[in-house]
Amino acid sequence: MSSIAKQLQVVHARIDAAARVAGRDPQAIRLLAVSKFFDAGAVVEAARAGQTAFGENYVQEALDKMAVLKQAAPELQIEWHFIGPIQSNKTRQIAEHFDWVHSVDREKIARRLSEQRPPDLPPLNICLQVNISAEDSKSGLAPQELLPVAQAVAAMPRLRLRGLMAIPAPTEVEQEQRAAFRRLRELAEQLSGRGIACDTLSMGMSADMDAAIAEGATIVRIGTAIFGQRHVGNP
Ligand SMILES: *Cc1c(COP(=O)(O)O)cnc(C)c1O
Repeated sequence: MSSIAKQLQVVHARIDAAARVAGRDPQAIRLLAVSKFFDAGAVVEAARAGQTAFGENYVQEALDKMAVLKQAAPELQIEWHFIGPIQSNKTRQIAEHFDWVHSVDREKIARRLSEQRPPDLPPLNICLQVNISAEDSKSGLAPQELLPVAQAVAAMPRLRLRGLMAIPAPTEVEQEQRAAFRRLRELAEQLSGRGIACDTLSMGMSADMDAAIAEGATIVRIGTAIFGQRHVGNP
């Protein structure tokens, strides 16, 4: 068995254990394999081991990988999730080539994705990224900006609003990890209370997935724990 296949087993066992501790059904938690900076060969290995959903942060890197995979392993059915910052001039490629986008944090970007989603594809699944750690102001909607954007996105014809995503400020303190993930869950509950149905909480990475699962994650986005360390200087 390849080391990627082994690591996938380890990660699935970790998901199962965290779900059990939380009294949750492990089947309710999807594993998104984050393959940024790893090549198409790594994706093939993971896919042949049963992994179906892959996350990418950079449009060009992802499209290059998709092209290689189409040639090298056309039989693989892969679901592609875009999880990186979105520039306006990249929305068309994202709308044409991905199944999910986790990192929408502006109404304008959502509108472009909806307009550019090809009519022969199903609606694009969307998570709104929320900046739940105030000190990390890089990307994400502020919690108080969320409701109007969620209402707008829910009404866009070629998008399907699925839920919320967050990347909290890193901390090794589990209580702090949980507090941040809890805030995201509460925001999703508030949206549901306003009639905006959400079935997805995209939260938890290699270092904090256990806390995320304890707080209700339905998708965990895992790179390092599956593929190993990315090169120095990479995000
Ligand atoms: C890189 C990345 C991940 C995976 O992080 P790991 O710590 O390697 O598991 C998850 N989510 C986002 C948005 C990322 O950019």
